[in-house]
Amino acid sequence: MYSPPVELKKKSDELHSKWSTYVASPGFASFVEFAVCLSSFSEFLNGKGLSGLHQISHRLEQQALAMFDEGDKHEITDGVLDDLSNQMAELTDRVTRFIDSNTRPVEYRRTNIEAKRASDLVPTHRIWLIGSNDNQWTNLVTQLEYFSIEAELFAWDSVPGDDVEPSILLLDMQGIALEEAGRHIKNLRTRFSASKILALQIQSDFNSLKAALSAGCDFCFAEATPEAVILAKIIELCSSEEEAPYRVLVVEDSLTASKSIQRTLKQNGIESFAVTKPSDVLTGLRSFQPDLILMDMYMPDCTGVQATRVIRQHAEFLSTPVIYLSGDGDIALQVDALRLGGEHFLTKPFNPVFLNAVVKSKIERYRALRRSMQHDSLTGLLNHGTSKERLATAVNLASTKDSQLSVAMIDIDHFKKVNDKYGHPMGDRVIRSLAWLLRQRLRKTDLVGRYGGEEFLVILPGSDADQAFEILDRIRRDFNLIKYAFEDTWFDATFSAGVSQFPSKANTEALIKDADEALYDAKHGGRNCVITHR
Ligand code: GH3
Ligand code: MG
Ligand code: MG
Ligand code: MG
Repeated sequence: MYSPPVELKKKSDELHSKWSTYVASPGFASFVEFAVCLSSFSEFLNGKGLSGLHQISHRLEQQALAMFDEGDKHEITDGVLDDLSNQMAELTDRVTRFIDSNTRPVEYRRTNIEAKRASDLVPTHRIWLIGSNDNQWTNLVTQLEYFSIEAELFAWDSVPGDDVEPSILLLDMQGIALEEAGRHIKNLRTRFSASKILALQIQSDFNSLKAALSAGCDFCFAEATPEAVILAKIIELCSSEEEAPYRVLVVEDSLTASKSIQRTLKQNGIESFAVTKPSDVLTGLRSFQPDLILMDMYMPDCTGVQATRVIRQHAEFLSTPVIYLSGDGDIALQVDALRLGGEHFLTKPFNPVFLNAVVKSKIERYRALRRSMQHDSLTGLLNHGTSKERLATAVNLASTKDSQLSVAMIDIDHFKKVNDKYGHPMGDRVIRSLAWLLRQRLRKTDLVGRYGGEEFLVILPGSDADQAFEILDRIRRDFNLIKYAFEDTWFDATFSAGVSQFPSKANTEALIKDADEALYDAKHGGRNCVITHR
């Protein structure tokens, strides 16, 4: 998992300075500044997977936000000030300790279990499995190694010191009483700020789950959860990608208002672009490609609702969320706005923390929706249509930059037999494992799509066919090492692949056709091989 000591230090210093300014002369304005900064810091910690630190800052944030309930009177007692001070000190201390331990070089710890590594790649993620029941997890540990995820087993009383921060802590809770489980989780949560904590074999009643989550657990898996589900979660956590910053288009005739909104957004890491004339909104949308529009309700010559109506005439902006900024409660206009797919109203003057929270939650939902439309539900890869669109974009980019690009078509061998012998669900597992392997082994800039049932399209910008061959052949060998357990036995699977390259072939159809032809040759040449189109 990505640990960002430099960025973290900068953000933490900024928070500290806002707090010091407030303490020097407590007042509403400086408290708002502190609360906005704290809220942004909490989200940063959450986004970076620093769960332990997030837990502390989130508690503090909740307390700070509750103080807005009295409006802008802002009367703070000495007791409350002391309490907030203590929490700030605890947070700063924990952040400092985390930064220290993450800037020291880390000694590589060998695995202490006897599972044969599927490949000689250095593990990219470290997992500690803590519990007293080693044997039960041998299969899970082996499966993880196929994806270069190293799991080490520890007993409760022999968890190593704090100099190494594993990506994930898996806690085997079987047979552990509720109170003791809570103590264990709390203890580990305090020690490992950046680790995700997953409780396995936990009792699934309301109280047990509530206790585990509030002690600092990130995910809970009840007794009898299939191993494949746990494996899928671990792989998802290990492959979480950095998200592009959120983008907001501000449509507001008052310069002062839009400046202040843009400032709030910026403090929260949200990029924005402002237009002051409603007639500029389409140009703004096309050039800035926002995730959301903040729309002033009252502008000269045009209401926000009229502007939204114009925007909705364009198919590409049909689902872009709109939040209205309105001065008062004009019910008729608000009903009109909602009918046009308005998402929310914010009444001026708005609380900046609230503005940020609403904007972010709407964007998250919008992006999730877009993702589900562009990705395949079994594997999480790009779906057929989106893969082809991305290929066209990548080819355009390669031709403007005069660079190379390779395309590979991959198809699992004799897959009908896998389904026939081991069943369709097992077939799905094989498809998913190849998807994970591809995603994990390829670069962030490469694109992987599920082109058909057990067919994948891979796009490698900047690589020629020889480089593509090398990468894919490596993946081919490692894929064949994965063993799928079935009843008392196991089986493995292979794939064939065909590779084509740009600029030898200059358009998407020709690239796909060449890759398909090479794949055909690979199948006829005996399968389990990669062939480059010549
Ligand atoms: P070849 O080596 O020539 O590729 O042989 P094959 O058996 O793999 O042949 P083909 O590629 O034509 O077969 C694909 C099979 O994949 C047919 C279909 O039943 C199965 N399939 C397609 N989609 C899915 C899926 O989502 N899940 C599962 N389990 N099977 C699928
Ligand atoms: Mg206005
Ligand atoms: Mg096929
Ligand atoms: Mg096949």
